[in-house]
Amino acid sequence: MEKVLLKNIENTNSADITEYQKIGGYASIAKALEKERKDIIEEVKKAGLRGRGGAGFPAAMKWTFASGDPKFPKYLVCNADEGEPGTFKDRPILEKNPHLLIEGMVISGYALNAEYGFIYLRGEYPDAKHILERAIAQAYDRNFLGDDIAGKGIVFHLSVHQGAGAYICGEETALIESLEGDRGQPRIKPPFPVNVGVWSKPTIVNNVETLSNLPYIIEIGGEAYSKIGSPECPGPKLYCVSGHIEKPGVYELPMGTSLREIIYTHCGGIKGGKQLKAVIPGGISTPVLPPDKIDCPMDFVNMPKHGSMLGSGAVIVMDETVCLVKVCYRALKFFEHESCGKCTPCREGTGWLRSILERIEHGEGQEGDIDLLLSVSSNILGKTFCPLGDGAASVVQNFIKHFRPEFEGHITAKTCAVEG
Ligand code: SF4
Repeated sequence: MEKVLLKNIENTNSADITEYQKIGGYASIAKALEKERKDIIEEVKKAGLRGRGGAGFPAAMKWTFASGDPKFPKYLVCNADEGEPGTFKDRPILEKNPHLLIEGMVISGYALNAEYGFIYLRGEYPDAKHILERAIAQAYDRNFLGDDIAGKGIVFHLSVHQGAGAYICGEETALIESLEGDRGQPRIKPPFPVNVGVWSKPTIVNNVETLSNLPYIIEIGGEAYSKIGSPECPGPKLYCVSGHIEKPGVYELPMGTSLREIIYTHCGGIKGGKQLKAVIPGGISTPVLPPDKIDCPMDFVNMPKHGSMLGSGAVIVMDETVCLVKVCYRALKFFEHESCGKCTPCREGTGWLRSILERIEHGEGQEGDIDLLLSVSSNILGKTFCPLGDGAASVVQNFIKHFRPEFEGHITAKTCAVEG
């Protein structure tokens, strides 16, 4: 498949606007500006583009909700707060292909009649901040941003806002709170940001990868784009693969490539020829899978049929030497730390789960601890304000579902059979 999102990134100067234009960059803006705004949304609909942040919501549908709202101004926010453990798929775009994202945002801003955009960048990406700011300055110099884009009187301004390193700010309403200068905590929904977002105005929040698809959709047309990858979720997809793998990294492949193909064909298999023990397919919040489930196509529609989710496409591979009780414990330590504290089931429940897992992991587990974990997690699931609580609860439930004997072994033997 032709590279779309990672095109030209082997070029050491790929983040420079001249290099980007040499390979046809910014040509899609002129093409987009010849179209009516509604026709661009129609093209995105034909393309079947789904948001790449994790939920997989159809992009055109989200856009239609905002564009149909008469309130003005409207805002476009790029969610570049990829804080989900295991996720680093947007990083190559931000650091090596920033003009692709800017071009995508200009096209999206025009389609939505939004005159101002923000890139909300995760706090832990300091290099990306400088690279994006330089790229934005270059785009202003060449009239791809500003008050008269490409001489067509189109207005779109763009700036970078860096977060302070809170996982919860990847949730779009917490992100908006943070962008407005408040504490990053989720808002109750509805109303949704498409109608009441930044400064109570209609706001579209899309992920880096989602917006970066726009220039290509305009270039080849929605119809042609819809033929790439799986029919229900077309397009190229970035999969970032880490863990016990021969060749970790970010891979651009057609959406729907199977986990097996990603691990064994593209990533060279399990490191050192060891056995695969478990895979987390879409970032730590997505349900863990045992080795017999890796023939599933990695897309938003098929992964749930195989017991997990595509999430962010962050594949974490674990070999036979890994203690899964320890992995589960470390995951809950993370969720407890990142819980924003707004709702009780998550604020208290993640701490309880972590503490039960901690004693099991440390050889102090008690009879009944597994049932207690399941009971606490079921009292979190579906009862929290935002998906962080659900993510924490489902991690515990799914590790126990697939690897219960390992938890039982820890409790009865008071030690780990894998690590000793
Ligand atoms: Fe905050 Fe957790 Fe509640 Fe989300 S689920 S609002 S992170 S306390």
